[in-house]
Amino acid sequence: MTISLGILGAGGRMGAALLAEIAGMPGVTLAGAIERAEHAGIGKPVGAAYPPSLTLGSNPGPLARAADVLIDFSSPAALEATLDSACEGRAAVVIGTTGLQAEHHALIDRAARNIAVLQSANTSLGVTLLARLVAQAAAALGEDWDIEIAELHHRYKLDAPSGTALALGQAAAEGRGIDLAAHSERGRDGDAKREPGSIGFASLRGGSAAGDHMVLFAGDGERLELVHRAESRIIFARGALRAATWLAGKPAGRYTMDDVLGLPA
Ligand code: NAP
Repeated sequence: MTISLGILGAGGRMGAALLAEIAGMPGVTLAGAIERAEHAGIGKPVGAAYPPSLTLGSNPGPLARAADVLIDFSSPAALEATLDSACEGRAAVVIGTTGLQAEHHALIDRAARNIAVLQSANTSLGVTLLARLVAQAAAALGEDWDIEIAELHHRYKLDAPSGTALALGQAAAEGRGIDLAAHSERGRDGDAKREPGSIGFASLRGGSAAGDHMVLFAGDGERLELVHRAESRIIFARGALRAATWLAGKPAGRYTMDDVLGLPA
């Protein structure tokens, strides 16, 4: 069976990585690709690896009707229209866009009553496993081990902390049995003494770094560091494509990368 894919945010860095991967991938075909209506590439061919008749669009409606699965690496502002179109067109959706707020998660939950939706702030295999290890370490080590999460991304990244850092913070909070929002310390500056039991976040931005994450467990006299380094954004594209092929034909519901990898709940 061939699975047809629609790419949202096709003109961006992740969009380019996805289009490059799909071109050489067996079992999948490109139904179409879209961008913001103002994008300079609208109406132009999607890429040299595809038929010239396949041009960049801006309307998620027709794309959702043509594709089995939409893959969205665009912007939180685009999410509502994407999900509405996916529900209408009966397409499943993989959401990789980060910077999602509570209202976006509510939209995803609502759409997941009608279609299959997988949202992940990090579609790499390594980070999916890292989150599991972080939860285990947080559960095993007592509150006297301070948890700090540091991340490094390229100079163009819009949101901070990264969605992955927040997901790792959530894993640590769940492992420790605490509420992340009530225990987060973000962007310390000036008079900023650490609260016992808190989870600290620090964000670095620069160069072309695809994404490094370190979760530090700092005890008295010893430190445990769990680190993931993405060498290229192609790993996120490959993970998103693995998620998309896994999601095709699944019943309505909200899924995670853990489900794709078959990790126990
Ligand atoms: P990017 O280079 O800025 O690409 C985003 C693209 O989406 C841009 O071309 C942007 O167009 C376009 N866009 C914005 N609004 C849109 C809309 N309404 N409809 C269609 N396209 C729209 O960013 P990126 O590095 O590719 O990352 C994209 C998102 O994925 C970010 O949220 C990033 O944090 C996230 N990300 C997730 C993972 C993961 O593993 N889940 C990995 C890497 C990145 P304009 O430039 O014209 O605004």
